Amino acid sequence: MKASPEAQRRLLDLQAVDTALAQLAHRRKSLPELAEIEAVARELSALEDERVRAQVAVDDLDRDISRFEKDIEQVRTRKDRDQQRLNAGGALREIEGLQHEMATLNRRQSELEDAELELMEQRESAEAALSEVQGRINAANERRTAAERRRDEAVADITKEQEFKTSSRAPLAADLPGDLVGLYDKIRAESGLGAALFRSGRCGGCRIELYGADLNRVKSAAPDDVVRCEECRRIMVRTAESGL
Ligand SMILES: [Zn+2]
Repeated sequence: MKASPEAQRRLLDLQAVDTALAQLAHRRKSLPELAEIEAVARELSALEDERVRAQVAVDDLDRDISRFEKDIEQVRTRKDRDQQRLNAGGALREIEGLQHEMATLNRRQSELEDAELELMEQRESAEAALSEVQGRINAANERRTAAERRRDEAVADITKEQEFKTSSRAPLAADLPGDLVGLYDKIRAESGLGAALFRSGRCGGCRIELYGADLNRVKSAAPDDVVRCEECRRIMVRTAESGL
């Protein structure tokens, strides 16, 4: 293939833009915020499980407490009824029976109230555990929101740079011969690098150093010959910097 030395030199400008675009695309995919957001999401998922367990513990205790309250209420109702019957008076045997039942009911009420108190203390701890988990969830959510904001800012900056680079690429490519750009794009599609400066006897793509006949092949090539590296097949652009 033939292309003017000037066109070949400008191929390096195009490669510089493409390299910058590739770096921007890589930066966009590997933003530290993305890993951070993923880590917080995993943390939140674990915390949510913890929160559900803590809520279940509180709900279970609430149910147990209200069952005790119903039982206590029943004992109180029974005691009120017995008291009314006692107040109404009656046969001695009947009164003794009621008094015995009242004593039993009092013991029962006291046992139930002690047990309920115990549960209410447990509920207080369970409630504290729940609000502690909720606090950690809130903090993680804040961290996620902050990381998402930083990610969005970084992505917006990268997008702006990508748009800028893309708009400068179009006229560069349009000014070059179509077959040269076609070859360049084909090589670049495989390794990201289509053309590189030949300098100090080295291919700028794979860094291999040329000697003897190989070096002479480059040296003796016509200025408008498009020379490619035997090793990596990239276009070796010769300029005044090449030291040939
Ligand atoms: Zn090479």
